Order: sequence, then structure tokens, then C-alpha cells
Amino acid sequence: RSICMAIETSTHRRGIWPNPMSDWMCDLMDPSTPHFEPCDAAPAIVVFTRDLRVHDNPALIAAGAGGRPTVSLFVLDDRLLGGPRPPIRRLRFLGEALRDLDHSLRSRGGGLVIRRGNWATEVIDTAAAVGAREVHIADDHSAFAVDRFQQLESMAIDTELEVYRHPGAAVVPPAVLEPTGGGEYKVFTPYYRRWSAADWRLTEPAPKQLAGPDLQNGHNLLDVLPPSTNESGIVGGETDGRRRLSAWLDGPVNGYEDGRDTPAYERTSLLSAYLHLGCLSPLEVALAASEHPAGGPFVRQLCWRDFFLQVLAARPDASTACYRDRGDMWADDPDALRAWQNGQTGFPLVDAGMRQLAGEGFMHNRARMVTASFFVKDLYLDWRIGARHFMEYLVDGDVASNQLNWQWVAGTGTDSNPHRILNPTRQSERFDPKGDYIRSWVPELSGVAAPEIHCPSHTTRARNGYPDQIVDHPEAVSRFRFLRAQ
Ligand code: FAD
Repeated sequence: RSICMAIETSTHRRGIWPNPMSDWMCDLMDPSTPHFEPCDAAPAIVVFTRDLRVHDNPALIAAGAGGRPTVSLFVLDDRLLGGPRPPIRRLRFLGEALRDLDHSLRSRGGGLVIRRGNWATEVIDTAAAVGAREVHIADDHSAFAVDRFQQLESMAIDTELEVYRHPGAAVVPPAVLEPTGGGEYKVFTPYYRRWSAADWRLTEPAPKQLAGPDLQNGHNLLDVLPPSTNESGIVGGETDGRRRLSAWLDGPVNGYEDGRDTPAYERTSLLSAYLHLGCLSPLEVALAASEHPAGGPFVRQLCWRDFFLQVLAARPDASTACYRDRGDMWADDPDALRAWQNGQTGFPLVDAGMRQLAGEGFMHNRARMVTASFFVKDLYLDWRIGARHFMEYLVDGDVASNQLNWQWVAGTGTDSNPHRILNPTRQSERFDPKGDYIRSWVPELSGVAAPEIHCPSHTTRARNGYPDQIVDHPEAVSRFRFLRAQ
């Protein structure tokens, strides 16, 4: 088996984004940038997964090195499409992102081939069909992704196929930074310090030209994905992601530090779905924001994304098992679960968050923290059930960020204070003082002014058809503390 060259680049370049110089020119002028040298003229395959972009895509660059013919492949994995409750919004976003990617590849002379079925089998079969000897893929770290890689790698042993994994899902790939004593970082602040000072790899230019064998593109297979709607204004794909990033850095980022915790007004970037499917390179986003005088707090949030990814890479079981088991004997309360899911708990901020989730497939971070805390601490329900509900609805649903944030809130994860409890009424007074967020998602309370809107009287609730609180918060907190102490 021939190894063409090392996969990871590690040289740090904190450049200006978008780069005013031609990407290719800039790269050619940088003597430190290693490149893949193709072994021969046989086509190579780049398998797109969660890297649906042409900019800063190391797998795509490696596959097309030296002008080698490249087959750009995406496999609609039956395991992702199936299941009783498919994540409609993420699948819609995926369809949009794939069409956008196809357009970008086509404008460079390539095009995206779609297959459907078992992921590893489809990759092997496509490679055999075009006589490819190399497959290039962006590395990924969930148990699901690792399982797929292992299947592919073991199937490739019987063929002449080389499988290469490339960075691209994180600013700093998991396992690059290790705490003294090894393993993963369990505490954010020391990780953030190391992450900020680390050598970030070089960004890769978007290829100018691609060549590839003519294959049936299989685009009719995309018809299984839900059609686009204008529901939340979020349109999947690199084109929209880059447009949003530019617009964000052009102004709104200036108000991020002060406004990011206020759910009522859109003061965060809304880039999470684009980062989740790799329509944007996290490295490019971090570099661009680092150049901005007000970008620091935003870059810090991007580090949280990498932090959870490196935890998941070290502990893939943390998507379903407690990272730190507290011995909880969770309650079984279908009525409370339903009230939470439907935004009918009688706690206005919690209900606003849950209704935003159902209505838009998005929820502001503060509301995610409050609704998740209420679920675990006030209702004492198993965090996995809440996390699954989020994953069903969120357009940015991401195993690492979702499950490990849930575990953080539940006190079973990396939070060093597992007994932290958010009071939903205090949180509402503090982060939605005028009640604007509540009013926009809970129409029953649209005529109720602050401060009453944070905890309406029984009479106001009855008059407006808004439910009474399903639990008494202080009592629920005592119950939680008692049960956690067992
Ligand atoms: P911004 O505030 O603009 O932040 C920029 C980027 O930084 C985000 O797009 C995201 O990639 C990253 N980021 C910000 N905060 C966090 C965080 N706490 N953890 C990890 N990354 C972060 N984020 C997801 O991308 N997918 C999820 O499935 C997800 N589930 C969550 C579940 C819970 C219970 C909680 C508390 C948080 C969850 N988050 C998740 C993190 C965070 O809420 C979202 O990333 C953020 O609200 C997305 O909005 P934005 O892009 O405007 O964020």
C-alpha cells in the first residue's frame, strides 16, 4: 500500500478573510503548505459528509491534487433517512446544501454524484466503478461516524483502495491538544487557553478547476429529502453560509458580547447549522472573527464547539451514556414530558423556548439552557429524552454540541458544578426583562406587561388561557437535591 503523503497540515496562518489575494496565488506563495502528490492518473474519490463546501476543504484538495480527475460523492445513508422520527429540518437543510455544493462543483468543471444505501458499500462500489485507488474523507468523531469509517476501512483492505481522513470538522482537531496526563480536556478554560495558543492548520483554497469522469449524478435520489420552505429564513448551503458570515462580521458581531444572552433579539450569528454540516469551515470562521476587533467572545464560543467535539472523540459513548454517572433514578412522568414538549409548563420562558424550537427548528442558547435545566432539575426527567427531542427538531442538531451541552446542564457531563440549578423565573427577569421573547412565542401572554409576564397571576393565566405552573420550583429543587444526594 502506497502512502502518497502526510494528511494533516499544521502550520498556523491567521489571515484576513475573505482573502483579498487569489486563494491559489496565496497558497502557492506560501512555501510551508504541503500538498498531496497524486500517485497516478486514476481518479480519486472525495466523499462529502459533514463538509459540504468547496472552500477550505482539505479532503477535496487532496483528491484533486495535481489536476487528478475527481469524483465528488455523497451517500444518502439509509440509517440517517430511516427511523420513526426523522429530523425533517436538518434533512431539508441537507438537501439545500447538497444542491448548492453541486452548483459550486459544477461551476468548477465537476459535479456531485449522489448514491443511496449503506454508506461504506456505496463508497467501495463507486470506487470500483471508476477505477479509483484513493478515497479522501473529512474526519468525524461521533460513534456513528467512527463506525462508518471502520466499516469502510475494513472493506477497503480487500481492494486496492487507500482511505485517507482529513481535518476540517474543527478549528483544532480532537486529540491534537492533550492535557498533562493524557486523555481529553474535561474543563473548558484550560482547553480554551491551549486552543487559542495552538498552531492552527493552514486554510485550503477553493479549487479553481475540477475534472472528473462522467457519471450518472443520481440527483433524483434527493427527492426523498423534504422540499425547501421559507419557514425560518435559514437556507442550507455554503453560499448562504458565507453570505451570512460576511454580513455578521460586517456589523452585528460588534454587539455580540453584550447581546448574546438576550433571546428576544437576533444578536447571535445563527451560523450553527452551517457549521454543523460544514457549509462553513470552522477554521475559516474562527480566523475571520479573530481578525475582527470585537471577534474575541464569538471565537470563544467556537471553542466550546471544539471542546465538546474533543470530549466526544475521546468518549463516543457520551452521546448516550452519562459522561459522569450520578446514579440518577429518573422520574417517569409522561404528562410532564408532554407539557414540556408542547410549551405548556406554565413557565413563560421555558414555554417560549420550546415553542421556538417547534416553530423554527432553532432555539436561542439561553433558552436551551433554561429549558434543559427545567427538564432535568425541575421535572427530574432523563436528559437523554430531552436531548432526543432537541435532535428531532433542531436544524443545527449536532451530537457533540447537543448531547454534551445537555450533559453539562444535567450535571452528568463536564460542568464542574453538577448542582447548578437555573430558576426559570429569575432567568426570564434577567435575560428577557421586557418579556419580548416570551411575547413573540407565547401569544396568550402578548397583552401582559413586565414584570408580571415572568410569572403571571392565576387570574391572568385563566383569563388568557395560559396554564398554571406544572411544578412548584422551590419544591422541585428540593426534590432534585434530595434525589441527587442519594
Ligand atoms: P453563536 O452565539 O453565534 O455562536 C457561534 C457558534 O459557536 C455557534 O454557531 C456554535 O457553533 C458555537 N457555539 C456557541 N455556543 C456553543 C455551546 N454552548 N456549545 C457548543 N458550541 C457552541 N449547538 C449546536 O450547534 N447544535 C446543537 O445541537 C446544540 N444543542 C444544544 C443543546 C443545549 C441544551 C444547549 C444548552 C446548547 C446547545 N447548543 C447546540 C449550543 C448553542 O446553543 C448553539 O450553538 C447556539 O445557540 C447556536 O446559535 P448561533 O449560531 O447563533 O450561536
